Amino acid sequence: MDYIAYFTMEIGLEEAMRTYSGGLGVLAGDTARAAADLEIPMIVVTLVYRQGYFRQRIDTAGTQIEEPASWPVADLLQKVEPHCSVEIEGRTVELCAWKYDVKGVNGYRVPVYFLDSSLEKNSAQDRPLTDYLYGGDDRYRLCQEIILGVGGVKMLRALGYHDIKRFHMNEGHAALLTLELAYELGVQAWNLAYEPVRQVVTPELVHLVKPKCVFTTHTPVPAGHDKFSLDLVHRVLTGYHGAFVETEKEFCPGGVLDMTSLALDNSHYINGVAKRHGKVTRQMFSEYKIDSITNGVHAATWASRPIAELFDRRIPGWREDNSSLRYALRIPKREIWEAHRQAKQALIEQVNAISSIGMDPNVFTLGFARRAAVYKRADLLFSDVGRLTEITARSGPLQIIYAGKAHPHDQGGKDLIKRIFQIKEMLKDKIRIVYLEEYGISLAKGLTAGVDLWLNTPQPPLEASGTSGMKAALNGVPSLSVLDGWWVEGCIEGVTGWAVGMDDSALEYHDTRAEDAQSLYNKLEMIIIPMFYGEGEKYADVMRNAIALNGSFFNAERMLNQYVAKAYFK
Ligand SMILES: *Cc1c(COP(=O)(O)O)cnc(C)c1O
Repeated sequence: MDYIAYFTMEIGLEEAMRTYSGGLGVLAGDTARAAADLEIPMIVVTLVYRQGYFRQRIDTAGTQIEEPASWPVADLLQKVEPHCSVEIEGRTVELCAWKYDVKGVNGYRVPVYFLDSSLEKNSAQDRPLTDYLYGGDDRYRLCQEIILGVGGVKMLRALGYHDIKRFHMNEGHAALLTLELAYELGVQAWNLAYEPVRQVVTPELVHLVKPKCVFTTHTPVPAGHDKFSLDLVHRVLTGYHGAFVETEKEFCPGGVLDMTSLALDNSHYINGVAKRHGKVTRQMFSEYKIDSITNGVHAATWASRPIAELFDRRIPGWREDNSSLRYALRIPKREIWEAHRQAKQALIEQVNAISSIGMDPNVFTLGFARRAAVYKRADLLFSDVGRLTEITARSGPLQIIYAGKAHPHDQGGKDLIKRIFQIKEMLKDKIRIVYLEEYGISLAKGLTAGVDLWLNTPQPPLEASGTSGMKAALNGVPSLSVLDGWWVEGCIEGVTGWAVGMDDSALEYHDTRAEDAQSLYNKLEMIIIPMFYGEGEKYADVMRNAIALNGSFFNAERMLNQYVAKAYFK
């Protein structure tokens, strides 16, 4: 069997498994689910993160409080026998693995292996290396990337996977797998099956792994591209000592190990995650051939219960063939409206139960939920609070549901949450606003299906794709979004949703805040809110188009078929 090994730093499979932080992990989960549906022989490798990402609490002032998020690993995963080891700071770190099977529509299973260093055998400092997702400092991160990249390859071999056709690096975190693959080639070439051979990992060998590797880059934001000082690399990555003396000149320009460069240099196929992002990435790394495959979401996972039941009734087979969702155009609008009303009712009840805010199911409801990162501009809607309150007085009432976690080290993101809290207080007599804690898979599911409009206002061109708007579309919830990421492809103005601001295809970065805010207010005031309250038929038409045009295309089935054709079996 020619396997595809998918390496990812995070993966979102179930709410209870705290091994993801946001879109990247949820995409990895959806990829595995689509592979299981399509019966693609994929194996996924990641780390176990016994203490998770973090549990988010927000106090009444809007201050985010982070608590450990341990989860019952042994209850949800199955321990596998084989062990392997990696070398870190001259010590041997033993690894075991846990397995989770992702089951497809027809029962095919894609195994996900979670590497774990918390073994008795390991020293006290090495046991917690697989405890926290995106926790700790640079050293901690590098140790984790050694475990993922090097340990991942060795664990797959220990599990008996020898015929692996392609190694797919979901972001640069896994790029050290190229080093281990080069080492394997070195052993084969010289038949030197003893340890010192690690020192023969040369740039030539690393390049020989190229036909085996696929690299997907997920963000133009610099913080998303790991760089480690060579000093640190020499101290920590001792297993390949010598390798880096040789490869330094090539992979470590400026005295840093750049994981993105390592992955770019050693992959036969490289892609961004939307057409626009492909273009942005080609500008960033002009010396490489870079394609794009637009992300998609797993339809059966993200359709709310009432919407899935409607599809089951009206479009049988939609789970196996997502493109048949185009037949949504045959579903009477009132049935879509009714399914959405049920999803909205459930969401509003949930919100009212946790917040006692008293949201009204008849009021036009906006949703904004994603990682609280500064570039996502959660507060764009409040650029001119006076204008916003005028709009609601004139065009009709509005209520807004927010959610999202800020990375513990991201002060800017935390300040943003605080700001939303301040505005929420300030506007409390005019617009009901709630900020929900603990944005995760189950909340994302309820929110993307239950609001009436999905708001997305990042600073272009920084949103590589964005996927939550795709979840919304699938549920008949149109987007009002900046033209960046997937929305450049998904927006047909007034048909599938609405655009905020201009389409800046020149990709010149400049602060578009003022003009984007104007555009956002104009669309809400002149078009969207009046349509929702006054022309329900027309609004339902946009909802139905969102499913038929966008749900049928921006799904993980279509995405994975493109990976198969362009990257995996080519
Ligand atoms: C889908 C999803 C995301 C991604 O949101 P974007 O719109 O792509 O930023 C993040 N977090 C969770 C929990 C999700 O389900």
